[in-house]
Amino acid sequence: MHKKIICCLLFIISIFACVSAYAAEVTDVRWGLDRFNVLRLVVDLDSPPGYNISFQGQTMLVTVNAKLDEKVTRSFKMRSTLAPTMTVEESGGNTVLKLPLARTIGTQDYNAFTLKNDPVTKRPNRLVVDITADKTATPSVVIPKANTSAEKAKAPVTVPKTTTPKTTAKVTVPKKTAVKTEEKKTTKSSFKTDGGLKGKKITLDAGHGGSDPGAIGSNGTREKDVTLKITKKVQELLKKKGAKVSMTRTGDTDVYGPNASDSQELQARVDVAEDNDADAFISIHINSSTNKSVGGFSSYYYPKTNNDARLAQAVQDRLVKNFGLDDLGIRKANFYVNKRCSMPSTLLELAFISNPKEEKLMNSNWYINKLAKSIADGIEDYFK
Ligand SMILES: [Zn+2]
Repeated sequence: MHKKIICCLLFIISIFACVSAYAAEVTDVRWGLDRFNVLRLVVDLDSPPGYNISFQGQTMLVTVNAKLDEKVTRSFKMRSTLAPTMTVEESGGNTVLKLPLARTIGTQDYNAFTLKNDPVTKRPNRLVVDITADKTATPSVVIPKANTSAEKAKAPVTVPKTTTPKTTAKVTVPKKTAVKTEEKKTTKSSFKTDGGLKGKKITLDAGHGGSDPGAIGSNGTREKDVTLKITKKVQELLKKKGAKVSMTRTGDTDVYGPNASDSQELQARVDVAEDNDADAFISIHINSSTNKSVGGFSSYYYPKTNNDARLAQAVQDRLVKNFGLDDLGIRKANFYVNKRCSMPSTLLELAFISNPKEEKLMNSNWYINKLAKSIADGIEDYFK
């Protein structure tokens, strides 16, 4: 009986594998280079891909188990000193990306992962390969510093496979730890930081969602529900002020998908800001502490541009001015979403769900509305 079931299952699985292998097709291949000179290759597919990365001498081969649509570009010139060119070809039913490298790299110098299609943002299944080994990048890590929370959405940046310190942003820290990184004076030209809110592109991220409730108060209030309410209200207010707003989520959903790793889920949120070419990225959270009497506001930032601290401060000022809650100040931290997006960004911790008084406030509409107004006004102040 059991044997029969197992055989049957295997049969179904093998049919599924055949069907999906047969159906898979590469629909686009793109590349990009971020400020840390991480070369990112993105392969779009019509179904989730199987893949393999290998080397033929100094040539990196990314083999994707999918056919190649004839519309896809076959030859790329890339702005990378490590991999100045890439060719794409179909071989034995697979699509192969070939990158002749300027020097040999190791497994620690690249990281590959897949992203599921997302009907909300209309993005396809993707294979992403980050090559972190470009020699011209020089970010540096300085002093580790204690932090207050270890929740998922604020997971520190963990570049899964890192290179030698000189070549990449190697920041691998235990949870509950933030890393202070030397302030970079580089400013990406594509985001705007002044001239008023009208026409500015803002990405709002409601913390947690779907399989991840975030922190939960003693009366059962869930962080993911409160952050969504506030974020939707901020969206409405910013739109009225003439901003173009994109949202990482608009319902009770995971952004990447259930059972994603922290970095997949957080990167999916960053991707929304990047895909929308946002001028600012605001992630909205509620704090929590084992000490129930702790309360107040704090705004976190990662000093990757000259404007991250200014953005955090602008929102923090409005929050503190409008409420009688404690001012915990703006704080440098190594949160993934702040660090990995290219535009100025802040992560707000709006009061404490663990504090019964503040939890009660979160369940009233006037409080949610007032919070949202403070955030929207703070963002407007930033762009003045
Ligand atoms: Zn949170």
